Amino acid sequence: MNLIKPTRLLLLGAPGSGKGTISKRLLDNFKQLKSIASGDVLRSQISQKTSIGLKAESYLKSGSLVPDSIMINLITNQLQNQNLLHSNSNWLLDGFPRTFNQAKELNHVLDENQSNLNLVIELNVDQNIILKRIESRYVHLPSGRIYNLDYNPPKVPFKDDITGEPLTKREDDTAEVFSKRLIKYNEEIQPMRQYFQKLGIWHEVSGNTSDIIYPKVEKLVISDI
Ligand code: AMP
Repeated sequence: MNLIKPTRLLLLGAPGSGKGTISKRLLDNFKQLKSIASGDVLRSQISQKTSIGLKAESYLKSGSLVPDSIMINLITNQLQNQNLLHSNSNWLLDGFPRTFNQAKELNHVLDENQSNLNLVIELNVDQNIILKRIESRYVHLPSGRIYNLDYNPPKVPFKDDITGEPLTKREDDTAEVFSKRLIKYNEEIQPMRQYFQKLGIWHEVSGNTSDIIYPKVEKLVISDI
């Protein structure tokens, strides 16, 4: 499918709400879209042992947020390096911004580069369901592809469908760390939601599986809003 106008989208939602899965489907269906997933960028920095990776590692392990100053530079540099800061760019961000301060700073950089946001979608999934399914989530780290042993298993157990490489369990997907991430999300989302509501670009889609949520997201992306 083709996008009829430049689309710059934020996907917000609790950890485990399916942002990665929804992003992947959007990228498959809209070839013009590029995506940046902040968690994937951080995990790649950590595995390459860059200075940012070394600083970020302990935050990810404990389920805390990486400081805003690091995140804002990291993601704006990614946008810049991928040549996405111009008025015709099409992209989505998954996992960033995660605080009100990140949202404001991002908006500022985008405004300065005539590449303002036009759509913010918050995925609303029952958090009891998220907690139940998180322990069976596995990822292919290099690509960010996500599997769930219960309802979206890999074709070969514990192997990525495309590359055959091993899948891993994220260290922060344990019940204890995960609950902490959920609590943090619930604290941070409220001011961000209000901020984007005021800008008139915030939408919410609800459902308990990505199959239910995806068509609603796609409809928002193709509608002329
Ligand atoms: P995710 O893969 O989006 O669930 O992110 C995994 C972890 O990376 C989070 O629990 C945070 O420790 C860190 N992280 C990702 N994005 C951000 C962000 N925008 N701000 C602060 N920390 C982040």
